Amino acid sequence: MLTDALFQALFNISSPRILLSVHGRDFKIIYDNEAFRSASLNETFSIAGRSIWDLFNAGNCSSDNLVLLENTLIQSVELKQTLFLYDFDYQFAATGHGKTRWELEIIPIENENGQPPYIILTLKQKKKQKYTGIQQHPELLNIVSHIPIGLCILSGETMVLEIVNEKMLNLWDRNDSIQGLPLLEFMPELTDQVFPKLLQQVYTSGIAFSNRGAVVQLVVGGRLKSVYMDFSYIPLKNSDGVTDSILVMAEDVTDNIMGLQREQQLAERLTAINEELSFSNLELAENESRIRFLLNALPQQVWTADSAGLLDYVNQVVCDDFGFDVATVIGHGWQKFVHPDDLAESLEKWSNALETGCEYVTEFRLLFQDGNYRWFLSRAIPLIENGKLLLWIGTNTNIELQKSNEQRKDEFISIASHELKTPLTSIKAFNQLIQRKNQEHALDGFILKSAQNIARLERLIKDLLDVTKINAGKINYELEPFDFRKMLIETIENVQLTAPDHTIILENSVEISCLGDRYRLEQVVHNFLTNAVKYSPDGQKIIVKSTLEENDLIVSVQDFGIGIAEKDRKRLFERYYRVGDNAMRFEGLGLGLFISSEILRRHQGNFWIESEPGYGSTFFFRLPVG
Ligand code: ADP
Repeated sequence: MLTDALFQALFNISSPRILLSVHGRDFKIIYDNEAFRSASLNETFSIAGRSIWDLFNAGNCSSDNLVLLENTLIQSVELKQTLFLYDFDYQFAATGHGKTRWELEIIPIENENGQPPYIILTLKQKKKQKYTGIQQHPELLNIVSHIPIGLCILSGETMVLEIVNEKMLNLWDRNDSIQGLPLLEFMPELTDQVFPKLLQQVYTSGIAFSNRGAVVQLVVGGRLKSVYMDFSYIPLKNSDGVTDSILVMAEDVTDNIMGLQREQQLAERLTAINEELSFSNLELAENESRIRFLLNALPQQVWTADSAGLLDYVNQVVCDDFGFDVATVIGHGWQKFVHPDDLAESLEKWSNALETGCEYVTEFRLLFQDGNYRWFLSRAIPLIENGKLLLWIGTNTNIELQKSNEQRKDEFISIASHELKTPLTSIKAFNQLIQRKNQEHALDGFILKSAQNIARLERLIKDLLDVTKINAGKINYELEPFDFRKMLIETIENVQLTAPDHTIILENSVEISCLGDRYRLEQVVHNFLTNAVKYSPDGQKIIVKSTLEENDLIVSVQDFGIGIAEKDRKRLFERYYRVGDNAMRFEGLGLGLFISSEILRRHQGNFWIESEPGYGSTFFFRLPVG
């Protein structure tokens, strides 16, 4: 049994303590200490000898607590273990101040037989902490430790770590030895960061605070590291409504934020690429319209065909030439427009180009909207990229002029050889006759004829040389004042000698001194007169006039011959031009008028024609003389 001194020491404490004897479920109070009596404001009267249930009953305890107390007392005796009741509300009968929370300590005391006939029951004033509710319930602590976000309770102004779950410890990179330590002791790196201040603010104001994606500098793995966190500080209040601790919930969102940042960077990059693309598209569109503009500005027909050879683009020139829109031309393809005589050859060349990938070149006639065919040189080359033939780009160049020039050149050569051969044949014939005949009187005639043919040959050769000189810009003009009337009369006389069937009449002839190259101007008059004779085979009269109009000398040569159609009149001054029907009927090279127009131009003069086919022509020229 307890000694007296020990007994005194055991009960002389500041917390209310009573000694109970155990007899079944009837727990009798053997002793109550001073603190107990003082708490119950009954310092003089001891409750010793009464049942515990006189002390704790429905009037001052909840029925749950009474059941709990009875069970715990019995268990403590049975288990022979000290047990606690952490949250026991009990109101001492005399105080009348409402229930107070107590922590009950139940210590069983064994006797010599090992049986516990006594229990020391101590009521300890409980600290005003809400979280003790959790501490009292291990299953709740278990739940807290499994919550997938970091969770802890910091209590008091120094923010002592009361409860912390595994997740939070991992997040902080600490272990549970920090439990019971103030915040800045176990996380000194927070000292200069905003979080201690925020906690203080929540603690004093009692107003919760939360933030998302805040950057926290934490020592992780021994090194300071930036961690992004979503966190909440929730004030926990005691029964008086005063904040005494803070529930901290935190979640590491670094990966999300980094992901977000990466997404944002990606989005920004995408936007930039999009902008670049839309700019490039704009540029492309601009380039395309510029290319279209250029293609349409080309005087040639431009087209493209796909790798299979099908026409898929033509420029505006094609449409204008054929009189169809782009879609119709593409729909028809070239075949519809190529001259039937040229089609087989061009198709063969095209299929050969498609097979070999080599340049396509051909000449064909294309049908214009006016119903006429015109010659074209068609060329196409393949566009090959990375060894793949993408398309054919082709042009058709109008070579009608070259073709007709070529034709005219061929005609000219045949005419020139004929023209040169004719007088030469005559000269040869007369020379043979001269050799055979010995009579002097007969020789004169042959020699004269021969001389005439030589003169004709000479003229032809001179004309040819003049044309060459004109082309090379090498004709020299010797400008001198001369008597124009005299020159006119002499030229008429010369031509009249060679044209016995015609009568050349000089109707008006103005007396004038002219500044110019006499020889060259005589050449013009001579050409007009010989043409008048030549192209009026049935006519007899040729009328020549020279008049003065203001400062211009106007000369005209009128014949009553075949005349000239209007369409030919404009072209007579072109090199080698001869009116179609006349080419074989009349000798000539088509050079006289070309040379004349050039001489007049160099004298600042010009000429023109009035004519009616079948009734004759009048050739005029004007020379400034002022
Ligand atoms: P050529 O007479 O040698 O052929 P020209 O240059 O002198 O060459 O004349 C060019 C063409 O003009 C002639 O081929 C002819 O068709 C036409 N021509 C010239 N003068 C006359 C005229 N007086 N009457 C009709 N046609 C003419």
